[in-house]
Amino acid sequence: MISETHSKVQARHLKRNAYLYVRQSTLRQVFENTESTQRQYDLRQRALALGWRVDQLVVIDSDLGQSGASAVDRAGFQRLVTEVSLGKAGIVMGLEVSRLARNSTDWHRLLEICALADSLILDEDGIYDPAHFNDRLLLGLKGTMSEAELHVLRARLRGGILNKARRGELEMRLPIGFVYDNQGKVRLDPDVRIQESLRELFRTFRRTGSASATVKAFRAQGLKFPRRRYKGAATGEVMWQELQHSRALWVLHNPRYTGAFCFGRSRHRKLPDGRHTFERLEPPEWTAFIRDAHEAYISWEEFEQNTQCLRENAHAIGADRERGAPREGPALLQGLVICAQCGERMTIRYHQRQTTRIPDYMCQRRGIQNGQPLCQQIHGAGLDAAIGELLVQQVTPVTLEVALAVQQEIESRSEQSDRLRRQEVERARYESDLSRRRFMQVDPDNRLVADSLEAEWNQKLRSLADAQDRYEKQRQAEGAGLNEQQRANILALAQDFPRLWNDPRTPDRERKRMVRLLIADVTLLKGADVRAQVRFNGGATCTLHIPLPTPYWMTHQTPAALVAEIDQLLDDHTDGDIAKLLNHKGTKSGAGHRFNRWIVARLRKSYDLRSRYDRLRARKLLTMREIAKNLGVKADTIKVWRRAGLLVGHRYNDKGAYLFENPGAGAPRKNQHDPAKRLGRNSLSQRSVTPTHS
Ligand SMILES: [Zn+2]
Repeated sequence: MISETHSKVQARHLKRNAYLYVRQSTLRQVFENTESTQRQYDLRQRALALGWRVDQLVVIDSDLGQSGASAVDRAGFQRLVTEVSLGKAGIVMGLEVSRLARNSTDWHRLLEICALADSLILDEDGIYDPAHFNDRLLLGLKGTMSEAELHVLRARLRGGILNKARRGELEMRLPIGFVYDNQGKVRLDPDVRIQESLRELFRTFRRTGSASATVKAFRAQGLKFPRRRYKGAATGEVMWQELQHSRALWVLHNPRYTGAFCFGRSRHRKLPDGRHTFERLEPPEWTAFIRDAHEAYISWEEFEQNTQCLRENAHAIGADRERGAPREGPALLQGLVICAQCGERMTIRYHQRQTTRIPDYMCQRRGIQNGQPLCQQIHGAGLDAAIGELLVQQVTPVTLEVALAVQQEIESRSEQSDRLRRQEVERARYESDLSRRRFMQVDPDNRLVADSLEAEWNQKLRSLADAQDRYEKQRQAEGAGLNEQQRANILALAQDFPRLWNDPRTPDRERKRMVRLLIADVTLLKGADVRAQVRFNGGATCTLHIPLPTPYWMTHQTPAALVAEIDQLLDDHTDGDIAKLLNHKGTKSGAGHRFNRWIVARLRKSYDLRSRYDRLRARKLLTMREIAKNLGVKADTIKVWRRAGLLVGHRYNDKGAYLFENPGAGAPRKNQHDPAKRLGRNSLSQRSVTPTHS
């Protein structure tokens, strides 16, 4: 055998390098399985014994800590293949060489290349020449065995996991809010603050119907959300962080909060390039799904409602524009209007009219998609008012109930968050007490420990003070929102839906939520008037006819007399002066505004009135340049002369530009160019005299 081994190593092999491929599949193996690493390095000695020189040995160990399942991510293995195919390798060494590649394809490719490049292969069992049929067969078998071994190993592990999972006994990482007890049963986390935070999240979502609104509510109330650490020194500890949108979604989508045990909610597949994809599965496809396996935060029905609601919200952003969550903005029927022409949901665009935002309901999706004009556009102010009136009149039986529910919800919400924040303070107080006790119990001679305990105590006291401070601030902020008087007002309003509805202090969003409690959708058709088909949630319908709003220009037209007056005033006044005169008289513009020079200018243009400049030019007045040229002086001199009263100028705009009367024979002479000296300094300060009157 030995002689045969040696007969395989020829001088042509010894001329080339010897490659030692060292691999450990996981980082843990790298640290713990040092013995195997040692054996791998021992192969070097074998190579030296076979006749290779030390400087010919190349060690490839860049794949330490990489899984061998595929060659794609393993730079070291790829380098080995390259070197072999370039004919640089006389021999390739590895411990159980078949494990060089844990994937049959990779292994057979390496064998093929070794055969072509005439490279030998060495492992602990012996030396092989892949060009020989027998050796190749053996190596091929070893590769297949190795792959099979991996498969059996995996199947056994996975099978165990699956069986346990099907019985619902598999211990998995639990979402926050659950812990395993001593018997390995899933229980609600005994920390009441964690429990309450989760309940608050579900409550807030129930109320707002949107994950981002839930996040906003947590922020607004200064509430933190727990997260358990799974890495680092503090593993198992709970951190309190700001609630994030992705986190809220994760909690809302997690069926374990319904007390269900589930496993295999997604399918995992490997792509040819080595990347992985995950595909979400529906409950019937899950590997294991056991309802009511342990205690719960919400019911399965509520979970389904929540996910349905999240799906609809997501659609509202997407193409389908399903009925979405109520958003800010006054449009009462946001997400509820349907176009009677084409059946699409209509969207909202706001336009500003003085200080109020007025909604327009538009059907534009098809228009945008197909590049056609808008299908329908309906002015929303009249429609919203009509719907409001309808609700106030028609919905008397449910009135009290709705109003009471809204009022009660507002109250209980502030109570709940108050309780949660109080727990935070109590927690901080408990921790500071604990630190104090620890500090008291330590032997005072043990300086080092005593100092660090004292520092910890101080720090806990500070966080207690912070927590108390936050609590007080938030309580005051909320107390300010709901004092006794307001509480009485709300109670009074609760008796009275119409008043609650019409109260300007009721936020738009609350009003929209009330609409949603009552109305399923409204179908709009614009003709000679707007026909609105209202479908109530109970199934009842009702048709409204709303007159089209009078066009803006008709209601806001400027009276003819005012236009005539401005025309007359333009003879002697600039736009700005006219605005002042009109405001002084108390005249208002067509839209009901006070005048300013821009409004006057706009009216002047739209009614085609001649500008003051044109009027003065028609009276043969000269520009500064013209008069300066006529008199043979510089423009600056003209200015000085006008201020001194030697020339008569008329202001033609509000920026202080003048036109000048032709002085004719009475023109000032050139040597009068510095009248300031002649008239004394005071003359310069008299320029504020109104120059507009001729
Ligand atoms: Zn339409």
